[in-house]
Amino acid sequence: MSCRLDFASLAAPHIRPLRAYDPGYEPSEIRRDLKLSQLAELGSNESAFGPSADVLTFFRNAPWEVLHRYPDAGGRLLKRALARHYSTTPAHFTLGNGSHELLVLMALTFAAPGDEIVYSQYGFAVYPLAAQACGARGIAVPADSNLSADPDAMLAAISERTKLVYLANPNNPTGSHWDAATLERFLEAMPPHVLLVLDEAYFEFADPDQVPDGCQLLARFPNLIVARTFSKGYGLAGLRVGFLLADPGIHEVLERTRLSFNVNQLGMRAAAIALGDQAHIQQAKLGNARERAWLSDELQGIGLKTYPSQGNFVLVDFARDATPIEQALVTLGVLVRPMRGYGLAHCLRITVGTRDENEMLLFALKQLPSLCSSAAPA
Ligand SMILES: *Cc1c(COP(=O)(O)O)cnc(C)c1O
Repeated sequence: MSCRLDFASLAAPHIRPLRAYDPGYEPSEIRRDLKLSQLAELGSNESAFGPSADVLTFFRNAPWEVLHRYPDAGGRLLKRALARHYSTTPAHFTLGNGSHELLVLMALTFAAPGDEIVYSQYGFAVYPLAAQACGARGIAVPADSNLSADPDAMLAAISERTKLVYLANPNNPTGSHWDAATLERFLEAMPPHVLLVLDEAYFEFADPDQVPDGCQLLARFPNLIVARTFSKGYGLAGLRVGFLLADPGIHEVLERTRLSFNVNQLGMRAAAIALGDQAHIQQAKLGNARERAWLSDELQGIGLKTYPSQGNFVLVDFARDATPIEQALVTLGVLVRPMRGYGLAHCLRITVGTRDENEMLLFALKQLPSLCSSAAPA
């Protein structure tokens, strides 16, 4: 019998208490284990509208013969396409293996043990993990009564030791957002030595009259870093491509810590093509807004509270422990995301699907007897 090493005790002190990011269910396993013919995957906020047809054409004719070559470590092709799209220069971008990688890279590069990183209580789950990964102290600032980030409380939480603030606009999992005036007031009040990482993963789904475009604020606020991704609106979550848009000086520092070949060749080429099909993005935005409104109405119709959302998902309050509901939905072929990890055990986050998927969800919910008997308000 060999004696087992306690590898966790060998980890660096700040890594020992860290718990891995919970990616949710693996749909292929669920399908196999439960022998389901149909599965509505409403747990991971992937786009119900998929990628541009141009991307599918690219993959059909992909230049497979270059698979044995390293990708361009400088990401020139995609950065040039992004620079054209955003009317700026390639030096304003860093590419990442999804924006998740870049959110963590910001912490690893700009914060260290003894420093603080500020985010909202119901901010995206990656922010506390990023803080722990670099050994900084994560400060979760209490949210307001709508679960939204509270700008005054966040400003008050910023100290001499604060290096970064993370803010998702709109936020996952709450769907909440700050309007332009709130965001600008926040940036004006922030000390200039603190960096604001503005995570706009759901920008393409948001109503431009409600949710500001962070890119428009970059010229005024050099301490602003905008994070975007091809995973959500562009429907390319499987390819893992995201980017940061910020002052070129930020990218010069990030080049020191970024892995040279962090984004793969096919991902970069497909992302550049996807960027060229803005008509598809407009369709996805309109389709999502239509389905999100329909789904929210239907959920309210069966007595459930839904939070207003600017993303492609809706946070639903079941007014009781939602764990058994979530598990029953799995057996009925519907995956949604539990919210226990956020301290919202009575809520589930439901991705806006196609009409068929949304109907499957509603049909499944109506089959749960406990739900409709007591959840409906008088
Ligand atoms: C999905 C998501 C991301 C990033 O996803 P990637 O696939 O890594 O680009 C970032 N922030 C928020 C708030 C998200 O929901």
